[in-house]
Amino acid sequence: MAALIRLFKPQFSSLLRRSLSSTTTTATVSEIQPQRQRSNSSILPPLTDDLKGSKNFQWVFLGCPGVGKGTYASRLSTLLGVPHIATGDLVREELSSSGPLSHQLEEIVNQGKLVSDEIIFNLLSKRLEAGESKGESGFILDGFPRTLRQTEILDEATEIDLVINLKLREDVLIEKCLGRRICSECGKSFNLASINAKAENGYPEITMAPLLPPSQCSSKLITRADDTELVVRERLRIYKKQMDLYLRLGEQSEPVEDYYRKQGKLMEFDLPGGIPESWPKLLEALNLDDYGDKWSAAA
Ligand code: ADP
Repeated sequence: MAALIRLFKPQFSSLLRRSLSSTTTTATVSEIQPQRQRSNSSILPPLTDDLKGSKNFQWVFLGCPGVGKGTYASRLSTLLGVPHIATGDLVREELSSSGPLSHQLEEIVNQGKLVSDEIIFNLLSKRLEAGESKGESGFILDGFPRTLRQTEILDEATEIDLVINLKLREDVLIEKCLGRRICSECGKSFNLASINAKAENGYPEITMAPLLPPSQCSSKLITRADDTELVVRERLRIYKKQMDLYLRLGEQSEPVEDYYRKQGKLMEFDLPGGIPESWPKLLEALNLDDYGDKWSAAA
C-alpha cells in the first residue's frame, strides 16, 4: 500500500499543481491571513469581480457527516465561480458506474468506512484532470482531506487558503442524515427532518425547518444507502476516532482540524440553525455579504 501511495503521490501532486498553475494571481487569500486572525467576524477582504473564479479560492470544508458541507460548499461555489468538488460524490458516481471498483466501494461505503487513500487520490485526480481540460481554476473541496495523511499530501501538492469547519451538535447531525433525500431525476438534495432540539449539555436550542422538494421531485426521492441510523453512527464514530487517537497522545483536537489550526487557516463556524439562519451568517464571517445579496437576487 505504501508503495502504491509513493507511486501515486507525485502524480497527484503534479496534477494538482499543473491544474492550478495556469491562472493569474492577484492578492492571494493567504496573503491576508493576518487580517483573519485580528477579526472573528470578517476574515477576508471584500470579493471583487476580478477575484471571482480565480485560483485565490482554494478552500476546504470540514465537518461531521450531515453537517451541511455539501449545501454550503455548493452555494459558495456558485457565488465564487470555482468548482465544488465533493469526494463523496466522486465515490458515489464511481459506485453507480458499475466500473471495476464499484463492488468494492459499495461494501466500504455502506458500512460507513473510509475508502482507501489510493482510490480517493485516483478519483480526485481524474476529476481535476477533467476540470483542467475545461479551464477550471480554484476549488472548494468537500469531504477531502479526511485523514491526516490526505491532509499532508494535499499540503505538499498545493496551498490551501482557507478551511471552514462546520459544527453542529451530534443529535441534530443524526436527525439531519436520516432526513436527507435526493431527487433521482435532477440530483438536488432535500431534507425532510423538522428539527427542534432543546438546549442541553451546554448546547443552545436549535431549530431547522425541513428543506422540502418541489412537487415535481417529491415522488422521485431516494435515500442514500449509507444514511441509515446504524451507518450514520458508524460514520460519526470513524470521524471522531482520530480525535480519540489524539486525545490519547495528549492533544485536544482532531488531527486534520489541528493541522490547519496550527497553520492559522481554520475558521470554526457553529451553525446557528437551518439555511435561512446560517447562510447570511456564513457570508458575513467570510466578508461576502454584498455578494450574498446579488446571489439571492439571482437565485
Ligand atoms: P458524509 O460526509 O456525509 O459522511 P460523503 O458524501 O462525504 O459523506 O462521503 C460518503 C462516503 O464516501 C464516506 O462515508 C466514505 O466511505 C467515502 N469518502 C468520501 N470522501 C472520502 C475521503 N476523503 N477519504 C475516504 N473515504 C471517503
